[in-house]
Amino acid sequence: MKDALESAWIPGDQLMPDHPLLDSAHQSRRVVVMIDSPDQLDERPPHKQKATLMLSAMRHYADALRRAGWRVDYREGASFGAELRAHLRETGSRKLYMMEAAEWQARQRQHQLKDDLDAEIEIIPNGHFLCERFAPEEKSGRKLVLEFFYRAMRRHFGVLLDATGDPIGGEWNFDRENRKPYDSKIRPMPPIQFAPDAITAEVMAKVEREAKSSMGSTRGFAMAVTREQALQTLDDFIVHRLPQFGAFEDAMAAREPILFHSVLSPLMNIGLLGPLEVVRRAEAAYHAGAAPINSVEGFIRQIIGWREYVYWRYHRMMPGFHERNHWQAEQPLPDFFWSAQTEMNCLHQVIGRVLETGYSHHIERLMVLCNFALIAGIKPKDVNDWFLDGYVDAYDWVVTPNVIGLGLCADGGVVGTKPYIASAAYINRMSDYCKGCRFDPKARTGDDACPFNFLYWNFLLRFERQLRANPRMGPNVLGLKHLNEAERQTVQRQAAAFLKKL
Ligand code: SF4
Repeated sequence: MKDALESAWIPGDQLMPDHPLLDSAHQSRRVVVMIDSPDQLDERPPHKQKATLMLSAMRHYADALRRAGWRVDYREGASFGAELRAHLRETGSRKLYMMEAAEWQARQRQHQLKDDLDAEIEIIPNGHFLCERFAPEEKSGRKLVLEFFYRAMRRHFGVLLDATGDPIGGEWNFDRENRKPYDSKIRPMPPIQFAPDAITAEVMAKVEREAKSSMGSTRGFAMAVTREQALQTLDDFIVHRLPQFGAFEDAMAAREPILFHSVLSPLMNIGLLGPLEVVRRAEAAYHAGAAPINSVEGFIRQIIGWREYVYWRYHRMMPGFHERNHWQAEQPLPDFFWSAQTEMNCLHQVIGRVLETGYSHHIERLMVLCNFALIAGIKPKDVNDWFLDGYVDAYDWVVTPNVIGLGLCADGGVVGTKPYIASAAYINRMSDYCKGCRFDPKARTGDDACPFNFLYWNFLLRFERQLRANPRMGPNVLGLKHLNEAERQTVQRQAAAFLKKL
């Protein structure tokens, strides 16, 4: 390595097959440095499944680069800074390239390294997000909402358009066809699994030995850790679950943690799959007649719309995003978020599966976990930290806009357009959780009343004036007219007593 002139640092969330720093034209004079460091694991210790995924994928990526002829300095050490200094010293490399981090804080640290390292540093734009190549313009004073961001992205990248440039199917958005409740007769095919190889087994042992997270274990780890396996995971979703993804996108079930979801986010968020290739694969399934438009459009909207939108919005709201607390929510996160020990069956089931596997699908994140946290007035920062610690696909750029923004509306409605709150009626309609619950989803108050009910009405009463001003909250607030004064007081008393015990 003594003759290396320059280095390229590839962190664990940039394992892209076409990484812009790995152009073969540079191969003869560039050495790749990868650092498996507690900086990665300890800043917010991740769920053990996430730590296993990232570290195993990094090691496989390093091996693949070596097979492709790259020199790779794979280091395990105390910190990124210390390891980069040691790498530069040992290789004699005088220039260090890096791609801009997706997370804001990591980006700041990259810039600090310019002062800390005795080398020239060049940071190139992040090539893993489409909105870094093209982003719709937000006119001053007019918020660019998701729907128009999404349409602009589809137009620019030519996704699901007919020959005249109009949306295929005649609509931009088929959301109204994506709301079927859970049906116990449906039998989704579970995602493809990969038995751990020797590298993954070694990583699992290291994570169990060294990781500081109290979340989960490495047991049952079966995710893709190579590019080839990631492509198989994509194919498996397109063939087996995409056709029904749309119809059951919002459904929830106690025994079906995945239903028809793709579970591609953990792989996309570390770079093993690119957003446009995923979108093109789904689009091709539509053109081949293998999946209906409501599924394909709904899935593509998650990727080219929502995923890109939250990344784009996040970088416009940092720093200070984590401190947003529009509803002045000060209740600490209940202990049951770390144990799943609660009589509320929906929360018991969803939290239990997050603790065990690091995953629950998006509607459970939004309409069970965040819905509860919002109507119970739990501190947004606490909730956000729990999501960061708990999920296998968690990164600040995606968690914070989804939790503090959409889920808790703690940003006052910048990411979303309204607070997503619902009583037990919604959960009862969309899932089978209420069947196994000791609470009555139809009771608003009383000993058996579902806490989602009195907390929901309490939230409406507390913020009635503010909510009335939001045209999208009209129907919710109108429901208050059915509550007489005595019922209002009972709701508020029961909510206060419940929150005190929480
Ligand atoms: Fe959740 Fe309430 Fe249904 Fe129980 S009754 S599962 S707490 S929504």
